[in-house]
Amino acid sequence: MSDKIEKSDAEWREHLTPEQHRVMRRHGTEPAFSGALHDHKAPGRYLCAGCGHELFGSGEKFDSGSGWPSFWQPAAPDRVGHLEDRSHGMVRTEVHCSRCGSHLGHVFPDGPRPTGLRYCINSVSLAFEPEEDRG
Ligand code: FE
Repeated sequence: MSDKIEKSDAEWREHLTPEQHRVMRRHGTEPAFSGALHDHKAPGRYLCAGCGHELFGSGEKFDSGSGWPSFWQPAAPDRVGHLEDRSHGMVRTEVHCSRCGSHLGHVFPDGPRPTGLRYCINSVSLAFEPEEDRG
């Protein structure tokens, strides 16, 4: 799973909606409570909307009340990458897909046990795959 995916900006624009492109390739943020998945509770897997890389599972999702899908850990540690983000006058930890580099959201140290982490992820960066579709 170390096969990185690289696309030109034109290719990303073809592949993504304008809102996905703004969030995933320009480090944007969708408005809170606007996304399709913040209150989504069905069992299944959350994949990268850019490349299909498995990022999170429904078993690690929790209701943070923030208006964004929130997870206390990724499906595996190497599924996501982290970068220091000093934009907007804050020091935050940015989270991106480790395969295609698409921006997902940020991780904060105020999540539930056992990790104490809150991966705060944009809905538009995720594609949900319900459990019954697993083959
Ligand atoms: Fe990806």
